[in-house]
Amino acid sequence: MSEKKLCPVCGSDKLDSIVQKETINGDLGKDLIIEVPHDKCMDCGFEGDICGENEKIIEKALSTLNEKYIDEVLNFFIEKKINFAGIERAVGLPQRTLTKWKNGISSPTAAGIALLKYLRIFPWLIEVAEQKYDFNISQKIFVSEAVNMLLKSITLNSNDFEKNGYSATAGNFNTTVYANSFSLTQENTLNINFLQQGKS
Ligand SMILES: [Zn+2]
Repeated sequence: MSEKKLCPVCGSDKLDSIVQKETINGDLGKDLIIEVPHDKCMDCGFEGDICGENEKIIEKALSTLNEKYIDEVLNFFIEKKINFAGIERAVGLPQRTLTKWKNGISSPTAAGIALLKYLRIFPWLIEVAEQKYDFNISQKIFVSEAVNMLLKSITLNSNDFEKNGYSATAGNFNTTVYANSFSLTQENTLNINFLQQGKS
């Protein structure tokens, strides 16, 4: 049997185990609540992790988070019909490796997990890889993705036009709009501040 657990401050064996809930804020919006045990000395009030058990719990939690990331990314690829064979060709991450990581048969590398997160956030990076990282093609892919995203987010408020004597809905909208600033709100909607409007 292992030695009796004693308080490192006063040497008392009157220890109580208290469990604290801690939230780990992971990446990709994945949070994890874990229960971390602490020892509390009933004599001197010392609180801490005497036997270093917490480290294992946190290690386990981080590996659970990795599984969550892999699930999230793989489900996203399936949902978006992104071909695993294409990912393997493009970034050299074999599907069987992903499956092993997902099933906990082998531990993912930190670089592998980081790559998956990037592909989840910027899936067009797969296309960049497929184009052999050609600089000009890659810039085009990036810019068209960004512009498309921007266009999708634009909702023009017809009041902005009507107050200037134009109707955006009447079909006779024949105006050049000059915007002096564009900004994306947190909801990804676009704010355009109109500088001036002129008839073309
Ligand atoms: Zn103590």
